[in-house]
Amino acid sequence: MIVILKDNPDRQQLDGLIRWLGDQQIEVHPTVGVHQTILGLIGDTSRIDIDLISALEIVEDVKRVQEPYKNANRKFHPDDTVIRVGDVQIGDGSLTLFAGPCSVESEEQIVGIARAVKKSGAAILRGGAFKPRTSPYAFQGMGDEGLHLLLKAKEATGLPICTEIMDASQLPLFEDIDILQVGARNMQNFALLKALGKTNKPVLLKRGMASSYQDLLMSAEYILAGGNPNVILCERGIRTFETYTRNTLDLSCIPALKTLSHLPVIIDPSHAAGKSALVPSLARAAAAGGADGLLIEVHNDPAHALCDGPQSITPKVFDALAPQLRQIHDLVRGEQTDVIIR
Ligand code: PEP
Ligand code: MN
Repeated sequence: MIVILKDNPDRQQLDGLIRWLGDQQIEVHPTVGVHQTILGLIGDTSRIDIDLISALEIVEDVKRVQEPYKNANRKFHPDDTVIRVGDVQIGDGSLTLFAGPCSVESEEQIVGIARAVKKSGAAILRGGAFKPRTSPYAFQGMGDEGLHLLLKAKEATGLPICTEIMDASQLPLFEDIDILQVGARNMQNFALLKALGKTNKPVLLKRGMASSYQDLLMSAEYILAGGNPNVILCERGIRTFETYTRNTLDLSCIPALKTLSHLPVIIDPSHAAGKSALVPSLARAAAAGGADGLLIEVHNDPAHALCDGPQSITPKVFDALAPQLRQIHDLVRGEQTDVIIR
């Protein structure tokens, strides 16, 4: 961090600032010019409140030269984080497929879909029990009963479960759930993030629809700083001026987030597209782009789905797509480098 001081700074205020920084284990290296003095701050500045320094009378400007997140930062954790869920590893270089309906609707529906997607190669069953809906009049999910049915589907297939938690108070209900999903609308629910930081459950953290990479990583930082290292980042499309698609899938996030952070990156093409016909193509692009996995909505009867039917692909389409995704993934990972070279 660099602090640029105003001309002739008050000595007492400057000493106060240097002492305050010293108390926080920050070394201060002043460079005195003819008209301006700058302070180079060395140490872990991620915990320093930049606004507090900017507000001082003697300060002209403050610039961060280091990212404000430490735990999520690749610089301090060069190796990829691998998240283990039963026998499944996420972020180990493989492609993990999360598949299932937007919402759990009945035992028959969730168990049937779980069996189908498992056969096609899905490693994790997704499905919402508590649904964050834009309209208060829309189906809000089956709640506790939905969680219970997800666990029945796990019992029937062995697939670990990924489902959304909307509030910290729900944590006791999620004890047997394998991966806690934080939805786009809750990415900055800091009370929830703090509570998840105190657990050691894997968290699938979705990017908010108007959030930057830094916003997403700062939200991940809340969970990591609390002591839970098991965070998976998920891009699900952001709001842009385009209206043809529900959101715009930002695939730049794969190389960008992997440069900035060591956390696994999962792509959700379903909520990005909003249209099932677009999903296979976006999923293939994400696999080619180096994603650690995909989260895909699959429904046995999309026309009658209680939530997100238009973007849900059928088990049959998923069955055709899954092997393609694997092939693309293996190809770009260089396991068939001869094919790439030719
Ligand atoms: C979902 O996964 O069904 C969901 C609600 O996703 P998002 O939070 O990305 O809208
Ligand atoms: Mn959905």
